[in-house]
Amino acid sequence: MKSVEEAVAVASEAIPEHWRVADPHEAARRIETIRALARRRNAVLLAHNYQLPEVQEAADFVGDSLGLSLEARKSGAATIVFCGVHFMAESAKILNPDKTVLLPNLSAGCALADSITPESLLKWIERYPDHTVVTYINSSAEVKALSDICCTSANAVAVVRSLPGDKILFTPDRNLGRWVARQVPEKEIVVYDGVCPTHDVLRDASVDMAKRLHPDAVVIAHPECREDVLAMADEICSTSGMLAAVERHPEARTFLIATEWALIHQLKKRFPDRQFIPADGCIGCRLHCPYMKMITLDTVERSLLENVFEITVDPEDAVLARRALERMMAVPRDR
Ligand code: SF4
Repeated sequence: MKSVEEAVAVASEAIPEHWRVADPHEAARRIETIRALARRRNAVLLAHNYQLPEVQEAADFVGDSLGLSLEARKSGAATIVFCGVHFMAESAKILNPDKTVLLPNLSAGCALADSITPESLLKWIERYPDHTVVTYINSSAEVKALSDICCTSANAVAVVRSLPGDKILFTPDRNLGRWVARQVPEKEIVVYDGVCPTHDVLRDASVDMAKRLHPDAVVIAHPECREDVLAMADEICSTSGMLAAVERHPEARTFLIATEWALIHQLKKRFPDRQFIPADGCIGCRLHCPYMKMITLDTVERSLLENVFEITVDPEDAVLARRALERMMAVPRDR
């Protein structure tokens, strides 16, 4: 009980006050209840790095999209409670058709995934018929089903390099696509026009402001950030890659983190002697994803008690989307 309570209390000064756990003791009690329920139901709890810190603490595994996809596949549990957003739970269902996959709040969507539909993708495919379609995992099952291969931010460069063709249509994230294109200049990469608003809101001017306050800080940015922000970064990587990136800077004490703020919970747990600050440098921005924060301890508990909300995927889409996801999983992480 004590260690859970301590873990829940881990909060950097960077976490916005209204998101901090007001009562770590009560949160630890709720987490114990949730874990007992999960054991009784033979359920595994997977949480994305952007989940509320107390939800991360309740989970069996915390990670990025690629890591959680792999965990979903490995798990022997009959039920997967996916503490993340809708497309992630859908991916877990596609990879585990015989398991029950629950998303604790059906409103947990994703603006980036919603920026592309099967219809809009088909128009782009019509325009670029000779291109191999690489789709970021942040997309619906229907969109994945129309794609040749998926990728995550952890292996996007490796996925594009692994393809035999030189013409790529990269969807839906514009910033990630452009970053990949800069890493793989030998290929012609057409980039779709979607963005993640949580990352795309950040500007170099704001990072610069944070940098002036912390001139020695190492800047670590997610490739969903704009090019001007990435140009200021010392490290560019996926959320799980950021944990490894900190290890590459043993002398650095302070890090400016250009991704959703909740990742700082994992960073702070792993490196308690370092300081992690959201790289926003602006008032009230705090790099916050409202969709990820729709999952709370309340909704997770209800999910287990009432078996809600079960995720289903059209069987034909599932077969094609699984093929695209399996191709993705065969490609190793970028680093
Ligand atoms: S952070 Fe961006 S890409 Fe991730 S779930 Fe939120 S809106 Fe979607």
